[in-house]
Amino acid sequence: MLVTVLGSGTSFGVPSINCDCPVCTSDDPHDKRTRTSVWIQTENTSVIIDTSTDFRAQALREKIPSLDALFFTHCHADHIHGIDDIRPFTFHKTIPVYGNEVTIKEFRNRFSYIFMDTQKGGGKPRISLNPISDKDTAERRTINIGDVELLPVPIKHGKLDVLGYRINNFAYLTDCNLIPESSYEKLDGVEYLVIDALRYQPHPTHFTIPEAIEASRRIGAGKTWLTHLCHDVGHEDLKQELPDGIAPAFDGLKIEI
Ligand SMILES: [Zn+2]
Ligand SMILES: [Zn+2]
Ligand SMILES: [Zn+2]
Repeated sequence: MLVTVLGSGTSFGVPSINCDCPVCTSDDPHDKRTRTSVWIQTENTSVIIDTSTDFRAQALREKIPSLDALFFTHCHADHIHGIDDIRPFTFHKTIPVYGNEVTIKEFRNRFSYIFMDTQKGGGKPRISLNPISDKDTAERRTINIGDVELLPVPIKHGKLDVLGYRINNFAYLTDCNLIPESSYEKLDGVEYLVIDALRYQPHPTHFTIPEAIEASRRIGAGKTWLTHLCHDVGHEDLKQELPDGIAPAFDGLKIEI
């Protein structure tokens, strides 16, 4: 199974519009961060977690050939507003979309045009909405898409309830600034971790880099990549500063799990 980091940047993306800071003007391709999402693929299954605002460019860059299901972490614009660009994958089939109840409700409101009866032509993404309830997560109900089995892991993003996802020994946790105790239990045995780490400065809804390191240690992941990075941190500097086993994620990073 292969996990590809489609995007590793915060909601503004890096470079940020109208900024001439050293990271936004860096020549290092690792400092070009599109909005956060990942692609999970096996020989016969393709799953995406979040359709970021940069989804079209990411899908073209990685040559994503097909899509079997879409999972949302939460309903913030940077994670879901690429939805219209999944249309090439839904010409001949309806794609199931999963997220917690808050996310699915908000998604239906924000993208009401998808569910309206409208004239043919132009096209709309063909999707079915599948809310994951608190009961589902409490009972550790997994969702199977082809040969990919996903376990939803509740995490907190300020006051907002967000879902991280565990797939075998890999976990994807963004956006978040707190992992509840019951979710640490769900992450027991995770070897590979991609986790939110916005910057060094404290933030009310995102882990800082030291907080993400602490969470990674608590989980016991052998290899961790920090994602949702903002323009405060340059890839190369951060790479030098991080302890063994922890590295900055970057667009196009591939993790074999
Ligand atoms: Zn975000
Ligand atoms: Zn900048
Ligand atoms: Zn968010």
